[in-house]
Amino acid sequence: MKAAVLTNYHQPLELRDVSIPDIGPLDVLIKVHACGVCGSDVHLVDEDFKEMSTLPLIPGHEIAGVIEQVGEQVNYLKKGDRVGVPWAQHTCGHCRYCVRGESILCPEQLVTGVSLNGGYAEYTKAPARDVTVIPDEISFEEAAPLFCAGLTVYTPFNYVGFKPGQTVAVMGVGGLGHLALQFAHALGAQTIAVSRGEDKLQLAKEKLGADEVIDSSTDEWVQKLQQMGGADVILSTANSSKLMGQAIHALAPNGTLVLLAVEYKEIIFPSPMDLIGGRRRVMGNPSGSIKDMRETLEVAAKHGVRPMIETHPLENAQQALEHVRDGKPRFRAVLTMN
Ligand SMILES: [Zn+2]
Ligand SMILES: [Zn+2]
Repeated sequence: MKAAVLTNYHQPLELRDVSIPDIGPLDVLIKVHACGVCGSDVHLVDEDFKEMSTLPLIPGHEIAGVIEQVGEQVNYLKKGDRVGVPWAQHTCGHCRYCVRGESILCPEQLVTGVSLNGGYAEYTKAPARDVTVIPDEISFEEAAPLFCAGLTVYTPFNYVGFKPGQTVAVMGVGGLGHLALQFAHALGAQTIAVSRGEDKLQLAKEKLGADEVIDSSTDEWVQKLQQMGGADVILSTANSSKLMGQAIHALAPNGTLVLLAVEYKEIIFPSPMDLIGGRRRVMGNPSGSIKDMRETLEVAAKHGVRPMIETHPLENAQQALEHVRDGKPRFRAVLTMN
């Protein structure tokens, strides 16, 4: 099969012929139809996940395809089922996190396309337990980004005590933010987009379900959000430690700031009283669990939440990766296999 392979860090991917993976009794073999190219794949090439990965490696953790073969002990999936694979796999199923439905916290997990071969290939394999069936309404190309970007922005709604009618502000209208706005709208939030650039704010209002928009290019954005009553939830998808520090001041009492994107700089947080007084919280969120994955797809199918994508053939994986590195896709890049 064809695969785009990372053979050396900081070097272009190589298109290679490699053997189709053999599966174990609890695995499924997947014929990949689409695989998203995520910002994390750029980090992988840049050696940022060196402790977790060994080369050569096939990247890709936003996989959507069709089951080609099931392991002999898999009796609930069959050849032809449309499935996808997210960031975490090989979760154990019995640790304290797995039994609570929080498999993303499982200490045994391995990472698709980082510690194991992923989806920049015509075939891939995964344990049957860690794949999720894709609803018929969602195409492979549009499903792929939901397995990382979509899952990452949907999952916090399960952990912040969110209720319909609350105000959710999304900082950054990009690969994560354009999905976060759609999910917030679908779940019944009063939705506010906070971003730079008139074109993005207009898009947020017209197409992505934002009820209000705020330009974040001046520090006044915090006051503007406060004047609207503050946000019960802020989903921070912008790579800016400065904005994350400011965002605390835009929270309503009981509000939660959720950090979803990274700038490798310290965040200056305000005085402890700003958190204590209003019982405000700051939390991070890594991807999501298999339970959250299923909900992400169900909500997306039911409410028409879809990523805006550009597609590239597998052969052009390196160009797609460079496009992502340069922040060019509006808003997610997806590889397609013929
Ligand atoms: Zn990702
Ligand atoms: Zn576990």
